[in-house]
Amino acid sequence: MDPVTIIRPRGAPVPAVFDSPHSGTHYPDDFDYIVPLSMLRRGEDPFVDELFAAAPDHGAPLIAATFSRMYIDPNRSDADIDPDMLDGDWPHPLTISRKTRSGMGLIRSQSGRKRAAIYGRKLSVAEVRRRIENYWRPYHDMLRRELDETHGRFGAVWHIDCHSMPSKWATGFDKAGEPNENDYVLGNRDGTTAGAEFTELVRETLAGFGFKVGVNDGQKGVELVRAYSDPARKRHSLQIEINRRLYWDERNFTKRDCFDEQRQTMTRLIEVICGYARGKVS
Ligand SMILES: [Zn+2]
Repeated sequence: MDPVTIIRPRGAPVPAVFDSPHSGTHYPDDFDYIVPLSMLRRGEDPFVDELFAAAPDHGAPLIAATFSRMYIDPNRSDADIDPDMLDGDWPHPLTISRKTRSGMGLIRSQSGRKRAAIYGRKLSVAEVRRRIENYWRPYHDMLRRELDETHGRFGAVWHIDCHSMPSKWATGFDKAGEPNENDYVLGNRDGTTAGAEFTELVRETLAGFGFKVGVNDGQKGVELVRAYSDPARKRHSLQIEINRRLYWDERNFTKRDCFDEQRQTMTRLIEVICGYARGKVS
């Protein structure tokens, strides 16, 4: 199975690229986890690739990982490795973040609310390198190539990094400091990965549909919006987190009846984003 898929634009291309790094459901044979698979599956952003399936109809490629983010997470740096998980010395520099130490780095060490240990042993340096080379790197290569080619062709690119979040993570704070459950959270790492105009366009569009939208509220975006963005050079990357409650039965792990409605909402958003990107370069 290819680690990453791309659906190319079906019509005239626009300078926008969509990616879904966490909707993959393939658990490779050498994963060797000791927790129930059902627990790992809670880490998936279920069907996010399906929710954004209209992107190619509007001129933008849609990239998606086929492998589970619990095996290796494309939305982390390849230096974000907890050395305590390894049975030997990592031969490259490491960047250890708060996420690494809490078990949520490139390769997760813990899963679920009970923070159960995913592995019953240390991982070898060789197997972690294999995961990077066979899964993480093809994903990054594909995304970077699409962003570079699009930017080369149009002089600008708008990248939308698509996710969904458990409803319990969607609680942010409103302007008065009161807790507030967001329907969507947009992340541009405090304005560093996407311009204000584009971020506001997406926020305003979703708010206009009647939703509560947070910006950098709890979720600010991680590696995929950071890695290839440079707003000053017209390379914009924006993360969008959908509250799973809008389309997913989190208890029974099934699509809700409103799934199609949610997909239609995302299709309307895609139309606005692709129309904006087209208008900016024509
Ligand atoms: Zn995600």
